[in-house]
Formats: sequence, C-alpha cells, structure tokens
Amino acid sequence: MESMTRYTYCDNLPSITHATRVLARSSFLIIDCEGRNIGGTGGVLSLMCIGTERAEHIFVFDVLALKAHNARLRPLVNILANPAVKKIMWDCRNDFLEIVAEYQVMLQGVLDLQLAEIQSRISIRGEREWKRLARLASGGRRLPLRLVKQNPDLFLGVHSLQGMDACIREARLVTAGKDPQVVAMHKTNGSDMWLERPLLPQLLQYAAHDIEMIGALYEHFKQQSWITPTNTDDLVDQSMRYAYSMYYQGRVADDHIFGSCAVLPLDILREPRGLIVPCQDCNRMQSLHCFTINKSGRKIIGRTNICRVCQIKLLIKEVSYPVAWVSVNMNT
Ligand SMILES: [Zn+2]
Repeated sequence: MESMTRYTYCDNLPSITHATRVLARSSFLIIDCEGRNIGGTGGVLSLMCIGTERAEHIFVFDVLALKAHNARLRPLVNILANPAVKKIMWDCRNDFLEIVAEYQVMLQGVLDLQLAEIQSRISIRGEREWKRLARLASGGRRLPLRLVKQNPDLFLGVHSLQGMDACIREARLVTAGKDPQVVAMHKTNGSDMWLERPLLPQLLQYAAHDIEMIGALYEHFKQQSWITPTNTDDLVDQSMRYAYSMYYQGRVADDHIFGSCAVLPLDILREPRGLIVPCQDCNRMQSLHCFTINKSGRKIIGRTNICRVCQIKLLIKEVSYPVAWVSVNMNT
C-alpha cells in the first residue's frame, strides 16, 4: 500500500496567510501546477502546488477558489518573482505561462530539473553522440533512427526531453510514480476534470505527490552531482530561457503542428550568439545555427523561415508544410 502524501489545502484567507509564512522561510520552493490544458488554448489554472525542501510542507492553492482574494496573494506572488528564491520545477514552460496569465508575474530563479537531466547526459554520464541520436528516436516519437541519421544537420545539437515518470524509474527512487488511475482518467476524460469542484481527493493527492517527486528528484540530482553549487547559476540561466521559450508563440491548440513536442528547443543550453533572427512559427528569436543554413562558399546567404526544431515537429507529426528560404545579410 502506497503511503499518502500529506498536504495543506489552501482555499481561504487564513490558509494562504499561514502558507505564505511557512514558504517565506524556505530557501527554495518546489512548484508544480495543474489545470485544464495548461499553457494551451483555453488553458485554465486549477491548482498551484508549492512545497518546501524535501517536500516537508506541501501547500495546494486552489486557484479557482482564491480568485476573489488574488490581491491578498501578493506577498506570495512577490516570492515567486524574487530571483533569490530558487524555484525547483519539472518542465516549467506551461506553468510559467499560466502563472503570468493568472497573477501577472513572471517566475524568477527557476531551476528546471528536466534541463539538469539533459545536461548530466553530456557532462556527468559521458553519453556519446550515438546515444543522443538513439534517445531522439526512442520513446514513441515517430522519429525512425534512420531518419535521424540521414539528417545530421537538422538534428545537430538537438536533445530529446524526458518525462518525470521515466526519470523516477531510471533513478530507481523509492518514491512512487504518478498515480496510474489518474493518468488513465486524464487520457479518457481530458483535463476538464481539474476544473470540477469539489475536486476528487485522488486528484488533490496526485497534485501534491508531484511535489514529492520533484523534491526527491532534486535531492537525487544533487547526490549524483548533476546539480552542484558550481553549475546552479548556469542551470538557472538555461531554465529561464526555457521558461520563456513558449511565451512568444502564445497559446496554441493541443493538436497544433507547432505545439510543444518531446524535443528541447535550441538556444536553451547555450545562450544565443551572433545574428539573432525570428522563427516564423514558434516566434522565438534564435541564433542562425538554429535554422537550416544555405551557404555560398563559406558565406551564409540564406536560412529557413522556420527553426530546425519546428522542422523536426513537422517530421514527427508527418505534416507537409512549405518551408521557405529567407536571405541573410550578415553585414546588417
Ligand atoms: Zn521555431
């Protein structure tokens, strides 16, 4: 029998006052949100879960119930905006967008464990090039290894993303993974269930348990030296670029061809350099190397109108879509 996750449900003023007081004493916070289609078209935030170190305290904020009290959440929102307080998250992108929409604040000091996992493949685990390509082709991504190998320039420096559950299994953590019943409910009923009130206790458990899992992964990553005092600042810089990576595109429908996929956008691990140009689809400004390049001799004369990761999305989704060349003037 799996142990239950202990959490405090916050849906009124006294509970948010208490939660804010406890959270303000924590040197870092663990954050994860639940809602309907979060980050996408029609997205609505339902729960904002915040934990302290090792998930010792977990507060589940009922965003819908607290709407009338958003002004009273200001002290908490100020902590979210404070870059000195690290926010430990797993794939921060959708949560980042929803928190901006709900509280008009941009999370600062994010440390995204999904990026720490990718960094560790190269810097700690010494994974070779063949493993990077194999990872891109695995996990039901509809990218045959043959296709990846045939397009070395397209996939240059592109990394696959790993899900939290897979990471927990790989790390052999004692923490239970995601509740399979809730995962199945999600598949059959969609994410509307997060807007129902009262929420099923099983859903509240699920949301709070995510904080426990992220807390356990964070401790594990530190033990493995995937996160150290030396690389923390770099990870935060990368995480903030990751947080903003969907911001410029805005909300898109679930089945949108340029919606997110299990591939890490480029210019996240390294900061943009040289000439920065926009992708017509994800709208992100990126370095030239993030696009397919057309050269005349050694001179770059053109680039594709959409970035390489957007082109990979077309391959994964098996959609034909016109990709055009845009001329590049390196002198401007
Ligand atoms: Zn793009």
